[in-house]
Amino acid sequence: METIIRTIDYDNMDLEIIKQAAKIIKDGGIVAFPTETVYGLGANALNEKSVEKIYNAKGRPSDNPLIVHISSNKELYSLVESVKLKAQMLMDLFWPGPLTLIFPKSNLIPDTITAGLSTVAIRMPDNKIARELIKYSGVPIAAPSANISGRPSPTNASHVIKDLNGKVDMILDGGEVKVGLESTVLDVTGDIPTILRPGGITREMLEEAIGEVLIDPAIISDKELLSTPMSPGMKYKHYAPKAQVIIVEGEINKVIKKIKSLAEEKQKQNIRVGIMATEQTKNNYKTGFILSVGDRNKPETIAAKLFDCLRAFDEEGVEIILSESFSYEKIGFAIMNRLKKAAGHNILKV
Ligand code: AMP
Ligand code: MG
Repeated sequence: METIIRTIDYDNMDLEIIKQAAKIIKDGGIVAFPTETVYGLGANALNEKSVEKIYNAKGRPSDNPLIVHISSNKELYSLVESVKLKAQMLMDLFWPGPLTLIFPKSNLIPDTITAGLSTVAIRMPDNKIARELIKYSGVPIAAPSANISGRPSPTNASHVIKDLNGKVDMILDGGEVKVGLESTVLDVTGDIPTILRPGGITREMLEEAIGEVLIDPAIISDKELLSTPMSPGMKYKHYAPKAQVIIVEGEINKVIKKIKSLAEEKQKQNIRVGIMATEQTKNNYKTGFILSVGDRNKPETIAAKLFDCLRAFDEEGVEIILSESFSYEKIGFAIMNRLKKAAGHNILKV
C-alpha cells in the first residue's frame, strides 16, 4: 500500500490536509496522527472492519483493547452507559489532556475495540490536529500508539514512518509530541478510581481533584506481570528496543561507577554497549554509545525523550543498553514504569 505522508503546521493548520485525512477515516481507512502524548494510529471507532486494520498494521494482539478518542464532551454520552460524578469532575478538569477514563460501554462500541470487555477506554486529546481530525471525521477515532506492537511508542513522524510506512493509508506529520509518554489510564467504573497505567496526569493530581485513587498492583510489582491484570495491555512486552535493557538503580554515584565497569566489561567481550545517561551525568562515561535522555531536575524532559532514545540505540546497532534510573516523583513514576517494561524488569540494584 502507498502511504500518503503530509506535514501539517500546528500553529497554522491547513484544513485541506485535515479534510483529506478525515475522508480516509470516513471511508474506512487508517491514519497515523499526532496527539500530545504519542502518535496514534486511528480508525473509525464505530466500524469493526476499519478497527481490524489497526490490529493488522500494528501486529497487535486482538485481546489488547483500544482507546477511543473524542473531540468534545458531548460525543461521550452515546458511547458509554453511564458517567459517575467523579468521572465528570475529572473530565472537566483534565480534558482535553493525557487522561484516559474507563466507562461501561454502550452498544455502539464494537467488541473489536474493547477485546470483548464490557468497558471502553475514552480520552479527549489536547492536540488541535488530533481534535480537528476527529471533528472532521464526524466519528470517534479508535487509536492505539502508531508503532509496531511491542516497540517503543512513536514521538515524532519519523518513528511512525519507520514502523508503518506502506502499512497505513496516511501519516500526518505534526512534529514532536509534547508529553512523550502514553496517557494515564484510570478505571472509574468502581467506587474508588484505580490507575491502570501511569502517565502525565499523576496520582497526586487525581487525588487532589477527587480524593482517594488506587494503583493497580500490577504496576507496582517489579516482577513480570500478573496473569490477569485489569488492563489487558499490561501483560505484553512493551516499549522494547531490539537491544537488551538493564536498569541500574541506586545512589547516583554508585550507579555511574557500576555502569562504567559494566560498559568496559561488555566492550571487552565485543558487545556493542549503549548508555542512557542524563545532562548531569553524561560526561562521566567514556565507553560505548552515550545518550543523554534529559535533565534530572526536569523529569518532563526525560519523558519527552525516553522513547526517542530507545529507538536511537537501535539505529546505532547497540546490543545492550545500560540505563541509569530516575526519580519516581510525579511523571517519574510513569517514566520508570515504561523503562522497566522496556527492560523486561531487568533491574540491577547497587
Ligand atoms: P495504547 O493505545 O497502545 O496506548 O494502549 C491502550 C491501553 O489502554 C492498553 O494498556 C489497554 O489495555 C488499555 N485499555 C483499553 N481499553 C481498556 C479497558 N476497557 N479496560 C482496561 N484497560 C483498557
Ligand atoms: Mg501502545
